[in-house]
Amino acid sequence: MASNFRRGLVLAAGGGLLAMGLAADSISEKAKKLHFSSIVVDTHDDTTQRLLDPKFDLGVRHTDGSIDIPRMKKGGLTGIFFSIWIPSKITGPEAVKRAKTQIAAVHEQARKLPKEIVLATTAGEVRAAKKQGKIAALMGVEGGHMIGNDLAVLREYAKSGVRYMTLTHSGNDEWADSSTDKAVHNGLTDFGKDVVREMNKLGVIVDISHVSDKTFYDALEVSKAPMFASHSSCRAICDAPRNMTDQMIKDLAAKGGVIQINYHVGFLSQEFRDAERKDPSINEAISKEIKTRCPDDNDEACQLIQGDKITREYVEAGKLPKVEWTKIIEHIDHAVKLAGADHVGLGSDFDGANMPYGMEDATMLPKITEALLQKGYSESDVRKILGENTLRVMSEVERVSKELNAKK
Ligand SMILES: [Zn+2]
Repeated sequence: MASNFRRGLVLAAGGGLLAMGLAADSISEKAKKLHFSSIVVDTHDDTTQRLLDPKFDLGVRHTDGSIDIPRMKKGGLTGIFFSIWIPSKITGPEAVKRAKTQIAAVHEQARKLPKEIVLATTAGEVRAAKKQGKIAALMGVEGGHMIGNDLAVLREYAKSGVRYMTLTHSGNDEWADSSTDKAVHNGLTDFGKDVVREMNKLGVIVDISHVSDKTFYDALEVSKAPMFASHSSCRAICDAPRNMTDQMIKDLAAKGGVIQINYHVGFLSQEFRDAERKDPSINEAISKEIKTRCPDDNDEACQLIQGDKITREYVEAGKLPKVEWTKIIEHIDHAVKLAGADHVGLGSDFDGANMPYGMEDATMLPKITEALLQKGYSESDVRKILGENTLRVMSEVERVSKELNAKK
């Protein structure tokens, strides 16, 4: 999810500039053909919180939230990483227990909807799902606090199909500093470095979204496999500490990695961030309203979905700037100019953050393909950004894992 629970409140920045007001139904034939024949992978999605509600049916179209099977199909999504997430403040056995419940909930979807969705753990399995006309469900653990300081737990997660782990969430782990907490470890501790080595062995992608800059560089040095940022944007455009600096994007790419652009308005738009900072009472009022609408403190799904809704209401009331979806294209293009089209992808943060206008849900994804073609991107570069880069990282991580296991 976006920042942490206290809603990294973000709002959006004045839409406006980019005149690409594409409607979802005005996609060119060329873009449609390209988009729907491509592997399209979203590396970060918080719908998992909704899956915990036995009444929630992923198989039918909903009027709220951003993700369900009908909308993923309409948007041409091939693969989605469901985020296994609990707040950083929950640690130890309780964290492990709740993470396992979420992993089971993702497995349960594949069992309940076998014609629509299939669990995938390798790049090859994502391609196979596409061939069968199914959506590939993947999993990432969002926050190292969920291993309970125990590599055996990490191994269990890998065994149950988890294929990336974000080293921290918005608070520090006991072994790694977060970008939105006070640094206490100077990056990764020795155990933190062991965690990265173990992830390499297990074939679990090291995800550096949320971590502090120093943690990023420590992980980059230790990891034998390419890493990715499952849902981060560019700090040069919006100075959220959760976003990556130009140098970090280049250094990640130099080791084969990928920045997966996050659609959260507070990470896309400086204007939104500034508005929030200028008047902290807006943020407080939104948090209060979330509490009213979601009286159960542990109902993260409600809090995330309502947070997005309430933020919209503030934008509509003129209290926060309106951020357009074209900001996503701006971030993609910035990262491509820095690092090349081989190192940029998509990590929406759907159902876990505040979406910009025009990217309310997965049905809007073909607009990204259309916009990149209009910008002059080649079809091959568009395919890379949509999902091929993610599959490349997965394949590399699989290869490194095999090599490391053969060695011992
Ligand atoms: Zn997040």
